[in-house]
Amino acid sequence: MKFGGTSVADPDAVTRLIGIVRRQLATQVSDTSQTRVRLVSDTCQTPVVVVSALSGVTDAMIDVTRLAEEGDGEQAAIALRALRERHVSVASAVTRQSRDTVLAAVRAEFEELTGLVHALAVLREVSPRSLDAVIATGEVLSSRIVAAALADQGIPSAWVDARRVLVTDAEHTVASPEMIATCERTRELIAPVTKSGQVAVLGGFIGATASGVTTTLGRGGSDYSASIVGACLGVSEIQIWTDVDGMLTADPRVVPLPRLVPQLSFAEASELAYFGAKVLHPSTILPAVGKNIPVRILNSHRPESPGTVITADGHPANGQLTAIACKRNVTVIDITSTRMLMAHGFLRRLFEVFERFKTAVDVVTTSEVSVSVTVDDTRRLDAIIDNLRNFAEVSSEPEMAIISAVGENLRSDPTLFGRAVTSLQRIPLRLVSQAAGRRNITFVLRDADLPSAMGQLHETFFEQRAITKTR
Ligand code: ADP
Ligand code: ASP
Ligand code: MG
Repeated sequence: MKFGGTSVADPDAVTRLIGIVRRQLATQVSDTSQTRVRLVSDTCQTPVVVVSALSGVTDAMIDVTRLAEEGDGEQAAIALRALRERHVSVASAVTRQSRDTVLAAVRAEFEELTGLVHALAVLREVSPRSLDAVIATGEVLSSRIVAAALADQGIPSAWVDARRVLVTDAEHTVASPEMIATCERTRELIAPVTKSGQVAVLGGFIGATASGVTTTLGRGGSDYSASIVGACLGVSEIQIWTDVDGMLTADPRVVPLPRLVPQLSFAEASELAYFGAKVLHPSTILPAVGKNIPVRILNSHRPESPGTVITADGHPANGQLTAIACKRNVTVIDITSTRMLMAHGFLRRLFEVFERFKTAVDVVTTSEVSVSVTVDDTRRLDAIIDNLRNFAEVSSEPEMAIISAVGENLRSDPTLFGRAVTSLQRIPLRLVSQAAGRRNITFVLRDADLPSAMGQLHETFFEQRAITKTR
C-alpha cells in the first residue's frame, strides 16, 4: 500500500491512512481465516506500507539545497526550521504514547540535516550525491511518523529503513534498483516483520548503494519503490493511494473533466505513465509485469471508490481509446544530413551522441535525409547539438509538447487513428508517430497548442461517448 505526498500531508491525511490500513488488515485477516481468496501470498501476511514525503517537502528540500549552493546558509537554516516545525506538529498530532520517541527521532533527523546543509552552504556546492542525502530525509521522516501513528492506534507496526532495503546503483537522483540484492534484503528485513503480524512501514523513493551511500530513484519514485518491494514479496496486489480516483482519461490539470478509466493493461499504463500521466511513476509497472501482480490506483480521500485496476490484459474500453497523456516543455531536435541518404551507420552515430550525454529520447521520426527527436532533459542540449554538428545540420525548437493517445483498440481498429488526426485538424502538428506495438499514437506540437489539442481529442473520444450513452 503506497501513500503519496497528499495522502500523508497533514494529521487528517494520516488519520485517513490509518483507517485505510485498518480496513485492509481486517479484510486480510478475515480472508485468511476463512481461507477464501487471499489478498496476500504466504510470504506476506500483513500489508506493507510505503509512504512519500509529506506533500511539498521534497520540493522544499530542493529549495534548501539551492540556498546552500548560493552560500545562503542563513535562509537555508530558516527554511529547515519551518520544515522541522511542520513535521513536529504532524507527529505530535497523530501520536500519544509514542509521541516522545517519534519527536526525538524527528528532531535527531533535523539536527543531522541542519549540519549537512550548513556544510553544503560553506562549500557552496551541492553534488547529486549530497542532494540525495538531503531529500531522502523527507521519506525517512514521513515513514517514521506513519509507523508511530499506526502503532499508537493499536495497529502493530515496525519502521523499516528503506535505505537498507532498496539496493541501487550509484546514479544519484535517478538510481536504478538492483533487484536481486533488493529482494534478498526484502526477505531479510521486511518478510519477518509481516510474518510476525506487524505492518512494515518504509519510505518510498529512497535507497542506498551496496556500500550504503544514500540514493533516490527519481522524482515520483515512491510508486516504483512500492512495486519493487511488492514484486520481491510476491504480494497479490500493489495499491497506489493518491489524490485522484484512479487513472483518468486525461491529465486533470489540462482537461477540465476527465473520466475514470476502470481497467487498463500493463502496456497501456506504462505508455501513459511514460508520456506524462503523473499518477504513476513510469517504472512502476515494470516489477509488477515480471510477477503478474495487479496494480490498483485508489483515492485516499474516497477509499470506497473502486479506482483503476491495471492487469496484464486490461479491458479494452468500448472500442475506444483508453486515455490520453501529455508531456509539456519538451524540445524537438531536427538533424538533417545528405550523408544519411542510402548510408548505413548514420543512426548509430546519431544515437551514440545521446547515449554519451545520457539523455533519453522520447519520440523519433525519420525521413530520407532527416531525423527528428524529442528530449525533455535539456541539461546537456548544447553539448549534444555541438557533437551532432560534426556530421549533420542541427536545429532545435523548445516549448513543444507531446500527446500520447493510448489504447489496445488501436491495434484492431484503424479508424481510431483517422479520428484522432481529424480531431486535430486545426492544430499544426510537428511530428506524428505510431510505434510497431500500435498501442499509442504520438503527436508533437507547440506547447501553446496543447490545451486545445487535448480538449479536442478528449471531446472526440470521451465526451461524445458519454453524450451518446445518456441519450
Ligand atoms: P502522489 O503524491 O499521490 O504520488 P502525484 O501528484 O504524483 O500524487 O500524482 C497524482 C496526480 O497526477 C493527480 O493529482 C493528477 O493531477 C496527476 N495526473 C496527471 N495525469 C493523470 C491521469 N491521466 N490520471 C490521473 N491523474 C493524473
Ligand atoms: N517525495 C518524492 C517526490 O516528491 C517521491 C514521491 O513523491 O514519489 O518526488
Ligand atoms: Mg507520485
